[in-house]
Amino acid sequence: MSEQFECHSCSTRYNVTELVWRCKCGGMLDLVKENVSFDPSRLQNEMPTMWRYQHVLPFKSDIWKSVSMGEGNTPLIVLDEKEPKTFVKVDYMMPTLSFKDRGAAVLIAKAKELGVTKVIADSSGNAGTSIAAYAKRAGIACDIFLSESTSPKKVAQIKAHGATIRAIKGTREDVAETAQQAVTEEKTFYASHVYNPFFYEGTKTYAYEIWEHMQSVPDTLIIPVGNGTLLLGAYYGFRELMESGVTNKIPKIVAVQAENCAPLANAFITNQAVAEVKNTGTLAEGIAIAKPARSAHILEAVRATKGHFITTSEEEITQARVELAHKGFYVEPTTAANYAGYLKYHRTSEEKIVIPLCGAGIKQV
Ligand SMILES: *Cc1c(COP(=O)(O)O)cnc(C)c1O
Ligand SMILES: [Zn+2]
Repeated sequence: MSEQFECHSCSTRYNVTELVWRCKCGGMLDLVKENVSFDPSRLQNEMPTMWRYQHVLPFKSDIWKSVSMGEGNTPLIVLDEKEPKTFVKVDYMMPTLSFKDRGAAVLIAKAKELGVTKVIADSSGNAGTSIAAYAKRAGIACDIFLSESTSPKKVAQIKAHGATIRAIKGTREDVAETAQQAVTEEKTFYASHVYNPFFYEGTKTYAYEIWEHMQSVPDTLIIPVGNGTLLLGAYYGFRELMESGVTNKIPKIVAVQAENCAPLANAFITNQAVAEVKNTGTLAEGIAIAKPARSAHILEAVRATKGHFITTSEEEITQARVELAHKGFYVEPTTAANYAGYLKYHRTSEEKIVIPLCGAGIKQV
């Protein structure tokens, strides 16, 4: 049977083709998975990359081999000897210096498998960089829509990979809307880290790697959330591990947003549907998403794990960045925002916690 997407709102199904990315009702699509079963004996130990989990990734061919840049299998280490149960996963040790490479490698390899020759994406920075790099490597033309206020260093990185930059005046939401119009008008593949379900098939390897390195499942994941690509990937990954019978629990997900742009945290706390907020300005540009398209998925995942939200102020973000640098880790402010969330989190002495270091410090001044 061919691969299918299913609408999260109305359950309509679509065959996976080049141009399907949203339901006719406007709902978000999920990938339909028939019996994903992870078998530890099928791990490809010769590959020190995320492709060691190839048998749970959605490919019919080996085309991904020509697209991969050796992403994944990032270090999981104790942050500080004084807190031996808190681990950081150094996900900025990736080809384009952010965790987005997990998703982009899978999404672009899938596009290549589908015969796509051009993609469009929109991003606040790191996803665009990652899509641009993998598209170029795959020989696929790429237009990246971004806001005029994107960090110059990220714009330079995207340009270096030969993508066409289409800078838009307006909010992050205006950028996405303009990109979607172009996708429709130009009949182009939408390589969106938010809309395209294959991106999450890449980010789910975050969970598999944690499980493999620990040989168990941590109690808690602290995860920064804007559009939720890491949060949902982690949730899907741990859910698959549980459904495959190799673990019997899913970690609690504690999601972190910047106080100045916190639509999901607000909705969670007030128990209401997500309403668009005004981004009043935050250093954490990677999670400054005023209206996350997959908000229903994200709230469901956090609730299903009995997790909750934490918000962090600009002062806390700045201070947390200094503290991480003093432990040896130079991260971008968005990653510091997440660490600041950890510092505010009330943990027990027994709790095993994993914190991702999502983006490298040199990406943003
Ligand atoms: C993209 C990104 C995030 C947030 O990911 P979402 O998918 O938007 O939730 C956090 N940190 C960094 C460095 C990022 O690039
Ligand atoms: Zn629908």
